[in-house]
Amino acid sequence: MKSAVVRAKEQAGLALSDVPRARENWVVVKVRAAPMCTEYKAFAAGRGGTFMGHEAAGEVVEVAQPGRVSLGDRVVVMPQNSCGNCELCLAGEYIHCQDSYDFAALHGSHNGLATMAQYLLKQDWMLLPIPDGMSYDHAGMACCGLGPTFGAFQSLRLYRDDTALITGLGPVGLGGIINARYRGARVIGVESNAYRARLALELGAETVINPLDKDALRQILDRTRDGRGVDIAIDCSGVVAAHRLCIDATRRKGAVAFVGECGEDTPLRISPDMIRKGLRLIGSWHYNMGDTPRMLNMIGEIGDQLDKLITHRFAIDDIQSAWETQLSGQCGKVILQPWEGEHV
Ligand SMILES: [Zn+2]
Ligand SMILES: [Zn+2]
Repeated sequence: MKSAVVRAKEQAGLALSDVPRARENWVVVKVRAAPMCTEYKAFAAGRGGTFMGHEAAGEVVEVAQPGRVSLGDRVVVMPQNSCGNCELCLAGEYIHCQDSYDFAALHGSHNGLATMAQYLLKQDWMLLPIPDGMSYDHAGMACCGLGPTFGAFQSLRLYRDDTALITGLGPVGLGGIINARYRGARVIGVESNAYRARLALELGAETVINPLDKDALRQILDRTRDGRGVDIAIDCSGVVAAHRLCIDATRRKGAVAFVGECGEDTPLRISPDMIRKGLRLIGSWHYNMGDTPRMLNMIGEIGDQLDKLITHRFAIDDIQSAWETQLSGQCGKVILQPWEGEHV
């Protein structure tokens, strides 16, 4: 089978390996759509790129024992290889599992770990059955396209007619707009990339403010009731200045979710930001597995929005172009199609 790999800085390639085999509750999925996410950063840097990707939708093609899925089932593949037994996993918060499997130690190699490949290996309970009539591309948006911001809005309870601020309108932030609009909220976006600002407006953002504007905070506040601030802010940029903007632009007793990964320290002022303001600050990586029916039901209703979010599709042989497109920033969500153009 083919897998996408990083050969060197901004150089992609394909690796060939055996198809992984099912064992115990680990089943083989033939990958039909692999939504592309942060891996382009490894492509840009030329580092560590042999087993790429963590998002997929596909078809179950081998099972080793009776379980939660059967041959031929169409499924969304959830990220990570969580244990399935700890308190967090049992509570549906498997994304935060601290006892995740060491894939290579368990299976003897990394083969089957990647989603940007023609086949992968996954525990059956981490596969979500796709409703009839839903495409693999749309179903795959249940991964990072919609997942992290969906989880944030579920936790923070975004209501109809609330105002949501979303900073950083890459594919995850754009998915946040879709989630907020689905819930009937107003959306103010913050983004400097003109392509993505335009796409955000198409998806229903009321306005998109350039974070490079010196009065960006004032522009946001002026669009809220009595200038008091937005109800909920979500940062999808991972930029420290955007964290501050979210905190400052949110009203008293409002809430902020941090979705964009960030390795730097963000200064927080306990009295003015937290105690006096009564803000709730949370991190959101993904959503609770118990909310899966709600997620899939939403996907079934918003196909036209997802067709706007997904701007590009590439066959696996075109992985170089796929990563270059992501690196350019001139795209929404990009999908890799491991079987497009293959003779099967
Ligand atoms: Zn666990
Ligand atoms: Zn992702």
